[in-house]
Amino acid sequence: MPSLLEVENITVTFGGHKALDSAGLRAERGHVTGLIGPNGAGKSTLFDVISGLRRPTSGSVAIDGRDVTRLGPSRRARHGLARTFQRLELFGRLSVRDNLLVAAELGPHRRHAHRTVGEIIDRLGLHHVADSSADALPTGTGRLVEVARAMAVRPALVLLDEPAAGQDHTETEKFAALLRSLAEDGAAVLLVEHDMGLVMNVCDQVFVLDLGKIIASGPPEVIRRDQAVLSAYLGES
Ligand code: ADP
Ligand code: MG
Repeated sequence: MPSLLEVENITVTFGGHKALDSAGLRAERGHVTGLIGPNGAGKSTLFDVISGLRRPTSGSVAIDGRDVTRLGPSRRARHGLARTFQRLELFGRLSVRDNLLVAAELGPHRRHAHRTVGEIIDRLGLHHVADSSADALPTGTGRLVEVARAMAVRPALVLLDEPAAGQDHTETEKFAALLRSLAEDGAAVLLVEHDMGLVMNVCDQVFVLDLGKIIASGPPEVIRRDQAVLSAYLGES
């Protein structure tokens, strides 16, 4: 069986500068896959390519064996893709529950939207904020609701761009459990994250981008000791 997500040879050029240079990765069902790399490495650009927000100069993206390189973001969402963005982008004036309902109704199981949302609120312990408007939430809770919203789509593939930014230690631990449970439900989870503790803790497989190229991939214990990875990060500071 092919990987749920197969990204091959992606090149993206911004005015002569290659933000991505023949980059590729795979994400498997039931796994949390990490994508790490110094600032400016191209992580968010690769997410834009995977979610259909940016057309690559060359290369291909396949979800569940189907080439989606030419499909726009909404068609990809219908193929089971959900993503969260680096900036918090909830509908501020809607309640937490309504933010989740909007997402559930976008997904492939829209007839069960209310039930799905009820289950997610239970699972994440969001009862106390379910009827608050999203813009009244503390940052950490907002991040959690963002992931809850991605879950509400019942996605086959979840892209999370720095979901733990601005979270304290307890929230980050909750987060790790949440990412694991998303994967245990069968989703392929692809995570961009600066918190190395979290990455090393929850990922089955890690890909490392530097200057638009994948310079290493493997399980966390191998990546942690990889010489090219260490130099890329040392070069950052
Ligand atoms: P990361 O998420 O790893 O920090 P990005 O994907 O945001 O990296 O950026 C990769 C490179 O592409 C950087 O050099 C950045 O300046 C450049 N870049 C990103 N978006 C644009 C854009 N819209 N126009 C021009 N350059 C961009
Ligand atoms: Mg980024």
